[in-house]
Amino acid sequence: MATATQADKAEEKTDGTAPDSVGGKPVRVIFIAGWGHSGSTLLGQAISTAPNVLPLGEFIFLDFYRHRRPHPKLVRPFECTCGVQVPDCDFWRAVFQRLPEDTNIVVDGSNRSRILWVYRLMRYLSGRRGGDAVSPGDDHRVFTAILDAHGATDVLLCDTSKDFARLARLLMMPGIEVLPVHLVRDARAVAFSYSKKSRVHLGLKPMGFYKALWLWTGVNALTRLVLRLSGLSAVPVSYERFCQDPAAVLRDLNSRLGTNIPTDDVPGAIRALVSHEIGGNTVRFKPIAEIREDSGWRNAISAGRARVSGWFTGPLHRLWTRAPR
Ligand SMILES: [Zn+2]
Repeated sequence: MATATQADKAEEKTDGTAPDSVGGKPVRVIFIAGWGHSGSTLLGQAISTAPNVLPLGEFIFLDFYRHRRPHPKLVRPFECTCGVQVPDCDFWRAVFQRLPEDTNIVVDGSNRSRILWVYRLMRYLSGRRGGDAVSPGDDHRVFTAILDAHGATDVLLCDTSKDFARLARLLMMPGIEVLPVHLVRDARAVAFSYSKKSRVHLGLKPMGFYKALWLWTGVNALTRLVLRLSGLSAVPVSYERFCQDPAAVLRDLNSRLGTNIPTDDVPGAIRALVSHEIGGNTVRFKPIAEIREDSGWRNAISAGRARVSGWFTGPLHRLWTRAPR
C-alpha cells in the first residue's frame, strides 16, 4: 500500500525535533483533500461513523476556535459539534492543556503563499531542504495530544481541511502517515455555490461563476500534483457517486483505508454520531434525513452555460475520480 511507503519515508526523515510516533507507530490521519463546497462535511461525517475513526473537522482552523479569533470562513464560529464553544468543550480543553499557547498548524493566507508550500514539498522530497524553513513539529504534537486526551492510540484521525498547502505540509512531517481521499464534485455545482448571492447574508463575498470554475481546476490540479510528488495515491471520491450510492463508496473507503464504516444505514449512523469537530458546513448541526445530491444548480444556471462549462471540466472530473488501475 502506498501509504506504508510514505510512513517509512517519514520515519527516515525524522530530525529529532518532534516525537516520532505514538507507541512506535506513526499517527494515521485520513485527510480529505479537494476544494470547498464539494461535500467534505458530509463525507467526513460518514467516514467518522467508523468506530476506529476520530473526527476533527476542518482542523486547519483550530487556533481560530481556540482563541475565538474571527475568520471569514467561519460562519458559525467557535462552536464545537458537541454544542458548546470550543474553548469551553471538555474534550478540547483536555487537548489544549497538553499544548503550548499557539500551535502553528494553520496554513492560510494568499494563494501565492499556499502555492509556496508545494514548492517546499518539492525541495523537501528532493532532499534539498533549506531556504524556506519548515517547522516539522506542531501538527504531530497536536495529534499526539488529541490521541492522549481521547485515551486511545489505535484510531485514525479524520481531518477535512481539504487545503493542498496543509496536505503538502503534513507530508513533510515525521511520524504522520497521511491517508488521502481526493473528493471532487461537479465543477458547475461548486462554481454555482460559490457565486450565490445568498453568501452575502453569511458575510461572504459571492465569486464570479467562471472564476470559481478556474479555481476548481487549479486547486484540484495542485492537490493532484502534491499527491503525485509524494508518491501517494489518494482514494478518489466523486460527490455525485457518493450521493447516488453511499454504501458502495464507503465499502471502497473501508477496503482502502482500513476503516470499518457501517454501510447499511448511513444517515442513521451520522445522526447518532457524537463528535468534537470544528469548521465545515453548518449542515453538520442539523439532523440528516437522507443522503441526497444537492443538484439545485441544474435549474439555476442556463443550459448553454452548463454545457460550455461542462466541456472542459467534465473530463477533469472523470479523470480525478477514476479508480486507480
Ligand atoms: Zn466538543
